[in-house]
Amino acid sequence: MTTPISENFPESIVRENIKRLTPYSTARDESNVGYGTYLDANENPYNTGYNRYPDPHHKILKRELALIKGVNEDMIFAGNGSDEAIDLVIRVFCEPGRDNILSISPTYGMYKVAASINDIEYREAPLKDDFSLDSQALLKLIDKNTKVIFLCSPNNPTGNLLDKETVLSVVKEFKGLVVVDEAYGDFSGDSGYIPLLKEYPNLVVLQTMSKSMGMAALRVGFAFGDSKVISYLNRVKYPYNLNRVSQEMAIRRIKEGSKTLAEIISERERVKLGLTELSEVLKVYDSSANFLLVKFKEASGMYNLLLNNGVIVRDRSKTNGCEGCLRISIGKPAENDRLLMLISNFGKETLAATENPFVEVTRITRETAITLKADFTGGGLSYLNTGIGFFDHMLDQISTHGGISLDVDVSGDLWVDVHHTVEDVAIVLGDALNRYFTSAGNYERYGFSLPMDESEATVLIDLGGRAGFSWKVDFRGEKIGEFPCEMFSHFFSTLASAGKFTLNVKAEGENDHHKAEAVFKAFARALKMALASGNSQSVPSSKGII
Ligand code: PMP
Repeated sequence: MTTPISENFPESIVRENIKRLTPYSTARDESNVGYGTYLDANENPYNTGYNRYPDPHHKILKRELALIKGVNEDMIFAGNGSDEAIDLVIRVFCEPGRDNILSISPTYGMYKVAASINDIEYREAPLKDDFSLDSQALLKLIDKNTKVIFLCSPNNPTGNLLDKETVLSVVKEFKGLVVVDEAYGDFSGDSGYIPLLKEYPNLVVLQTMSKSMGMAALRVGFAFGDSKVISYLNRVKYPYNLNRVSQEMAIRRIKEGSKTLAEIISERERVKLGLTELSEVLKVYDSSANFLLVKFKEASGMYNLLLNNGVIVRDRSKTNGCEGCLRISIGKPAENDRLLMLISNFGKETLAATENPFVEVTRITRETAITLKADFTGGGLSYLNTGIGFFDHMLDQISTHGGISLDVDVSGDLWVDVHHTVEDVAIVLGDALNRYFTSAGNYERYGFSLPMDESEATVLIDLGGRAGFSWKVDFRGEKIGEFPCEMFSHFFSTLASAGKFTLNVKAEGENDHHKAEAVFKAFARALKMALASGNSQSVPSSKGII
């Protein structure tokens, strides 16, 4: 029998104190002019780029999202990740020490944590053996104090979509809120539950920009639902819960859409197939998400093997229903290849010799904060963000011609000049190179390059472990665009000293831009040759001897 929601829904289930709450009113809410001389919010009047508070109502973000999702703006709550929405749903609807929420098992851990934080009882209905929803078991857990049911589809960590008819049967039976968490929905190809919101006022859908949109660091997530339900979440949230950068980046991203969704889905299927063929793998569960749940003969041994070789997956082997399983997120193709290679080598002696082609270095000083990730298989696109366009262009030469994909993210003191940023990127890149070639047992050690383009550049490299540097390059001007030419020798000498390798550079030519580019290209080519796997025994190092 269907239990209709009460006529005064959602007030029928909102906490009494929240119904009575007068929400915080921001300074700008009260004036509501939108322009002028702002002397109302005790902000600092001097522009730092961030001196004004962000829009507390996320108006532009919601306008863009509403268009794409086909809902009204007042049906959207925007939060600091969808984790904020999980917490707020519990805070608005559940009376601490009295009420309870329901979910499934296994599932995403935050529902339980958010319930405990709010002193709310958490009850879970195990999924069936095939991870499908047991609606009867779930409905049996309901009592008069049950306010919210969280269902995750596609479910984390099992990866499967819950059957829609079964989920809707729960929505129809229950007079509280049913929250369907679609964090991984974009990977499923299913239309999801947003189109059903108008039909079911007690349904709430969670989505996030952290997964298919690739914006986890921005912390932007959404709840979609009946405008009255959403208005309660908005009343309780922190006034400025989404910072301005996150709002702006989210808007841009929503307009662009995800460029990587199709590749991640096709990689998921490729990895699934690859895993299925490996003898250590007992089962790969079907996935509609960006991860695979995989049952191994020896899950903890496999977890340690992967970890020891720099591949970090999630051990779910102690989770009810997932015994013996690891949860593996889908990476870039080269990362997935390495995963498959390591798993296929389980128990074989040769494994100790496998080199890790992925290096990550983070360095934070008063002048710069840098994260650099290098993939020495060259697999994948580079992402260069030093804040100096010309320098990014030069680093791109190292990446393209060196067969190294680079993710370089820098926040540097460019208001002073480019010096610290260029120098510190060289230190970090040198460090990454050194870590790679000292761990990789098998490289050629020497590399060289011959003239290129109309300019000639010759770069000699010796990865023998001793820093050395010589520079014979004359630039005609002092700057290329805004970039000071003296920084080139500084970049390369710092790189050689941080990387502990010998680098000799010579270049001649007419055009400074071409000459600089030729040097970077030649360096990249020489590096690629030096790193190419060969027989290191053929060029023995005298390190430690002379
Ligand atoms: N829901 C599920 C099912 C998740 O797996 C996650 C993150 N792992 C979240 C929500 C939280 O995402 P967000 O980054 O938007 O807080």
